[in-house]
Amino acid sequence: MYQQVLSQQQQYFSSGVTKSLHWRKQQLKQLQLLLTRHETELLQALKQDLAKPVFEAMLSEINYLHTDIKHCLKQLTRWARPRRVSTGLRTFPSMAFVQPEPYGSVLIISAWNYPLQLALAPLVAVLSAGNCAVLKPSELAPATSAIMARLLPLYLDKEAVVVIEGGVPETTELLKLPFDHIMYTGNGQVGKIVLRAAAEHLTPVTLELGGKSPVYVDSSADLKLTAQRITWGKWLNAGQTCIAPDYILAHKDIAQALAEEIKAQLLQMYGDDPKLSPDYGRIINQRHLQRVQSYLDGIDLYCGGQVDAEQLYFSPTLVLDPPLDSRLMTEEIFGPVLPILSITGFDAAVRFVQKRDKPLSAYLFSNQSSQQQQWIEQISSGSQCINDVLMFMAVSELPFGGVGPSGMGQYSGKAGFEQFSHLKSVLKRPLWPELPVRFAPYADWKRKV
Ligand code: NAD
Repeated sequence: MYQQVLSQQQQYFSSGVTKSLHWRKQQLKQLQLLLTRHETELLQALKQDLAKPVFEAMLSEINYLHTDIKHCLKQLTRWARPRRVSTGLRTFPSMAFVQPEPYGSVLIISAWNYPLQLALAPLVAVLSAGNCAVLKPSELAPATSAIMARLLPLYLDKEAVVVIEGGVPETTELLKLPFDHIMYTGNGQVGKIVLRAAAEHLTPVTLELGGKSPVYVDSSADLKLTAQRITWGKWLNAGQTCIAPDYILAHKDIAQALAEEIKAQLLQMYGDDPKLSPDYGRIINQRHLQRVQSYLDGIDLYCGGQVDAEQLYFSPTLVLDPPLDSRLMTEEIFGPVLPILSITGFDAAVRFVQKRDKPLSAYLFSNQSSQQQQWIEQISSGSQCINDVLMFMAVSELPFGGVGPSGMGQYSGKAGFEQFSHLKSVLKRPLWPELPVRFAPYADWKRKV
């Protein structure tokens, strides 16, 4: 059955309809319309799946998508143009250019933590580049999955965009098919499954994975502002953000003060009892709640640790200096627990991060420009912020993606357009004149060239 969906899509793609810029822009405008007209229902679905506060849902899902679409609409004509490159004497006379062209049919498999954004932002890039798409939303956010399955066919070209809901069995079936590109967002274990399946058809793959994103806080940083920014970025969506600070390495002179400051910020942001705060989200399901809870077995807590399983509530939790071999420090936390490790200084922090998997994001809080420069030069990670967390996401033209175990390929803005385009090289020559230097028989003087 899925094979039929793909065959029909590939046939439709061959007709060339999706290649026209008019069609692409029309699809993007239709997405804008969907987001505007159904904002209330979408917010409701996000609330149902993750108890997302309206402000967070608007900021990180709906408005994020509006900004992304607006940017693509503005830039698309320019991105899609053939890009002239200079030619040399060897091909004279000629012209050469790079012609972006869509791949065909792209399978988008998305995750549950930003269930709307992680499904539709890839779709924006895929459609901008002139492809068809089969979208498989995460089954762990069923309300958002259902609303996308209902609304997308009402707004988008049904021949070009199909939503298939489901979990592991459905995704496994889809992965057997010869898509022209696969875009997967989720954990690295499944990332390997996707890559293996893609290898069967030599399908190009974009993998948006996760990992442990570190933060180093130097003694030169303004502690209050640092704590404020980290607290927001960590506990947004109850810590279920792929680029959330996973752990902090704090200069030993300020580690204790930083912990106190973060605790004070938690009180300021979510009050005495965060369970009652309308601004604090919930864990996606019992399995993930238990997973995060199990990381705390045998660990001393600095604050937090309260759980109400029935409400999927897990309070903001701070841990000081957990053992390095604890699961808290060896696995991605992806929840509302933040370990703070005291460290001798900047160089030790750099070595600590370098010894581990290349993270999706790496954050530095420091007032010293030499440290800022070294952090950028010495730490390899998908993205970085200096003196902030997460906020690179607000810059449409910054590519988003991981490196090494945190992913491969990038999207957002032009990077997304290019990720889902083949950049085809074209050399164009007239049929005259010809300088017959390259043709055999190769005279002696040619052999010496
Ligand atoms: P998930 O459980 O929603 O899984 C992601 C997708 O993979 C879903 O659509 C699911 O149906 C499919 N899937 C799951 N198991 C499968 C299998 N065995 N075979 C085929 N398909 C399968 O999401 P998750 O993996 O729990 O997401 C959390 C992880 O994703 C974290 O590691 C997080 O850091 C990462 N993440 C990365 C980004 C990013 O943009 N880089 C964004 C969000 C999450």
